[in-house]
Amino acid sequence: MTDHPTLITLLQKLEKSSTLESVLALLGWDQQVNLPPKSVEERARQLSAMSELAHHAATDPEIETLLQELEGDLDHLNQDEKIILKHARKDYDRSTKLPSAFVAEKAHLDAEAYGAWVDARANDDFEAFRPYLEKQVAMSLEAAGYMGHADKPYDYLLDIFDPGLTTEAVEDLFGKLKEQLLPIVKQILDSTVKPDTSFLKGFPINKQDEFLTLVTKQMGFDFDHGRIDTAVHPFCTGTAVDTRLTTRYFEDDPLDSLTGALHEMGHGLYQQGLSAENGHNALGQHVGMAIHESQSRTWENQVGRSREFWQHFEPKYREAFPEQLKGISSDDLFLATNRVQISPIRVDSDEVTYNLHIILRFELEKKLISGELSVKDLPAEWNRLSEEIVGHTPESNKTGVLQDVHWSGGMFGYFPSYCVGNMIAAQFWYAALKDLPNLTEDFAQGKFDRLLKWLRENVHCHGKRYNTQELVKKVSGEEINPDYLIRYLKERYLPIYT
Ligand code: ZN
Repeated sequence: MTDHPTLITLLQKLEKSSTLESVLALLGWDQQVNLPPKSVEERARQLSAMSELAHHAATDPEIETLLQELEGDLDHLNQDEKIILKHARKDYDRSTKLPSAFVAEKAHLDAEAYGAWVDARANDDFEAFRPYLEKQVAMSLEAAGYMGHADKPYDYLLDIFDPGLTTEAVEDLFGKLKEQLLPIVKQILDSTVKPDTSFLKGFPINKQDEFLTLVTKQMGFDFDHGRIDTAVHPFCTGTAVDTRLTTRYFEDDPLDSLTGALHEMGHGLYQQGLSAENGHNALGQHVGMAIHESQSRTWENQVGRSREFWQHFEPKYREAFPEQLKGISSDDLFLATNRVQISPIRVDSDEVTYNLHIILRFELEKKLISGELSVKDLPAEWNRLSEEIVGHTPESNKTGVLQDVHWSGGMFGYFPSYCVGNMIAAQFWYAALKDLPNLTEDFAQGKFDRLLKWLRENVHCHGKRYNTQELVKKVSGEEINPDYLIRYLKERYLPIYT
């Protein structure tokens, strides 16, 4: 690919490091999918030994020498090579600028805080979790300081997940979105149309699995380079050549299982669309979490909740579940797929109100990181803002401030990517509709290749060549704009909830 000798050596180092990372990911996948209950300790030892090797490879001092050499020889690097170099520098700094005592302390805290969060949630006891969360906030600030971002720590945290996104930009996007979204939510909730979901009972899991395999194959998930298994928490991991998805099945909520699996498949299609030959460097790696999420949302929502999706797949669905769907009309099925209701729990909420849950978390973590809000006052502020933004006061901390795992791992700055991802999904959707006439008619015929090819050529193939905003601009002609999500939600939901 390159003939620059220093870059070739650097690429070999990056390959070693990312290969070790992929082994770690595979061990993690296996832990959640296959691990026998009494093998947990052995797996912990394996993970710990592999982490050490991976960390060693990522922080190899020879990488610093190679980076400096290349940084002094930019005239001999082409555009792509400069991109590889820029990201290799960013990754290397992130791995080495934190003192090793800090890294060890953080790993220890993450493990302890996770256990404390599990117990605190089970017992509805925020006070038991409070010291761990305080420590996570303090260590996030400390990390931002080590990285040279003590002045704008929340910007630093956002950038970890979405390169280039700033607090100011997200504030602006969420402000505009909230203003337009609240009237839509109100109109839907005030509607006399109420989906009946009582028929969603007793859908055998093996039949759901067969149906999902049929759908994902038809949508283009490559089973020669990937698998779908079941796990308690759905996720997508692996590489472009070996993509591992997990899903979960509920006998009494098959549509949640289906849309959840399509979500993970969307992540998987993005991963499979990344350049395999560049899998170890920036050109074959995903941009960030918002773009990743946009890809999962496209297949889950724009495609998987459409009338055209059901026009094609409904006969197969009825074949799989003849008894369960007896007397249920096409409209009933479509409506149940697009139910909207205020839920206290983010992960149980629909694609309309989900965004409000994210705005709530963004407002809170921004204040926690700026010091405007102390952890002690977090539960009360959560409840107050939840009423104001989501329209619901949680009955307990268990279904309120303690519901998500993210903060126990100190993952501040991650939540916004879910909602920004929804915005980008809608923005890309309208760009695709412009480029591909009558696209949705393809779906009614069970064809998804035009959409997948468009995503591959416009989004997947670029790897990290562009940051989040740059890629959105390249694909759609403008920076992230929440109006597209509003337009999409209006077009999808207002004709249903008249
Ligand atoms: Zn996702």
